[in-house]
Amino acid sequence: MDNELIRPKFWQQYRLDELTTAEWEALCDGCGACCLEKFLEDPDEPYEVEYTDVACQLLDCDTGYCSNYDNRHLFVPECISLTVDKLQHMMWLPESCAYKRLYLGQRLPKWHLLITQDAVKTEQGMRQAGVGVAGRCISELQVSEEDLEERIVNWVHA
Ligand code: SF4
Ligand code: SF4
Repeated sequence: MDNELIRPKFWQQYRLDELTTAEWEALCDGCGACCLEKFLEDPDEPYEVEYTDVACQLLDCDTGYCSNYDNRHLFVPECISLTVDKLQHMMWLPESCAYKRLYLGQRLPKWHLLITQDAVKTEQGMRQAGVGVAGRCISELQVSEEDLEERIVNWVHA
């Protein structure tokens, strides 16, 4: 199948493991939450994750986007490339994340770009829903390891 293909309502029609590369990528809303440092004490209790507002060194904290996505593994080898197989171990993702929601049999958020087809509406919807790290995170390069616990935030929920 053509991996550039985006089929109508693919998120309702096909399983996650049946998606093309373009469809898979289109699910990401770019919230940036998965680029935040977090405390995950017990891998068996992923919903008890505590997020901080401290972001990966490559995250642009103004836009909320990775500043060097294509070459990110050269700088951040531990950056996770999300695949269907990994999702079962990633329930620490935010509740709004499309990958997690579809994996759990839930709908996409109503503000998701695939639903609205309108970037401005989606941006407004995400802001209203309190989703997205842009403008409210700080680079890990500016925070020492021992101060991390003081940076726990309550605006990301698994
Ligand atoms: S949490 Fe999910 S939707 Fe948000 S940036 Fe990460 S993969 Fe994309
Ligand atoms: S390398 Fe980029 S995509 Fe990966 S965690 Fe860092 S900012 Fe996010």
